[in-house]
Amino acid sequence: MIVAMNADATQQQIDHICERIRQFGYTPHLIQGEERTVIAAIGKGDKKEHIESLKSADGVEDAFPILQPFKLVSTEVKKERSVIKIGDIKIGDGGLVVMAGPCSVETRDQLLTTAESVAKSGAQLLRGGAYKPRTSPYEFQGLAEEGLKLLAEAREKTGLKVVTEILNAEDVDLVEQYADILQVGARNMQNFELLKKLGKVNKPVMLKRGLSATIKEFLLSAEYIVSHGNPNVMLCERGIRTFETALRNTLDLAVVPLLNELTHLPVVIDPSHGTGKRSLVPPVARAAVAIGADAIMTEVHPCPEQAWSDGPQSLRLEDFAKMMADLQPYIKLRQQAAAAA
Ligand code: PEP
Ligand code: MN
Repeated sequence: MIVAMNADATQQQIDHICERIRQFGYTPHLIQGEERTVIAAIGKGDKKEHIESLKSADGVEDAFPILQPFKLVSTEVKKERSVIKIGDIKIGDGGLVVMAGPCSVETRDQLLTTAESVAKSGAQLLRGGAYKPRTSPYEFQGLAEEGLKLLAEAREKTGLKVVTEILNAEDVDLVEQYADILQVGARNMQNFELLKKLGKVNKPVMLKRGLSATIKEFLLSAEYIVSHGNPNVMLCERGIRTFETALRNTLDLAVVPLLNELTHLPVVIDPSHGTGKRSLVPPVARAAVAIGADAIMTEVHPCPEQAWSDGPQSLRLEDFAKMMADLQPYIKLRQQAAAAA
């Protein structure tokens, strides 16, 4: 349930409500808004007698049940949009953030060449997998820590922040030392032990939608991370499996406004995995910007033909530069709309 405190509620009254919530068997989560404090009481039930009791306590304006199965990530609990800060970069403040880089970190030269080029074209974050979840055990599995070190070197050289995938709960301590954003891949969206561990991490997490996950399951996975203590979660739509086989995945862009209705978390679109086809990445990226995505993530490689993974969907360096230039009018339109609102 949600307990909305009066704007002038005292700290003592807030503490008392948290205590009562604990006595009733829920866990209180404080959400400090600009005007008032809201307390989300998370647990099974939302019993009527508990709601009535809390409603009549001093300092409480109202108490009501949370209707959605996901709680802390829902707009029922928090109306203000969450903005995730990574140094000077803000994801979710209405602007557009661009993440770009190779599918896999392969070599020092490949990574540094890509990083320097995408930085020049206007990307703010470098992506690159050091741990790769491959369908076949015979395919390249990633450079592991050596790859993380190369990402850190690229950050040092270019100023780009780094987003990279974490595959196992056991690797969290290591990957956390190198990454600015920890990516949970589609195949791990429901690796609940990993999600719980990421709840304890002091770095933002980008959670990718599972290959056949519903929006409810997607948001419940985000809820695992947030309810275990990490509020800095962004959601990445990367396409799902449907009956359609013309493309690698089916990317449903309607999830951007839908997620904006259901959750305050920022939304990222990945047109590379979403389509699997290089020529479709720029137009789909434009659509993502137009529909209000907070960030886009695209795969870029100096020579896609020789890429160790996902070559067909990787942009060449010059394709990425052109895509960024072509996005400008769409970014401007958004800025104008935000200024007029
Ligand atoms: C990736 O970003 O390279 C990746 C493996 O993505 P996904 O988990 O969406 O397949
Ligand atoms: Mn990939």
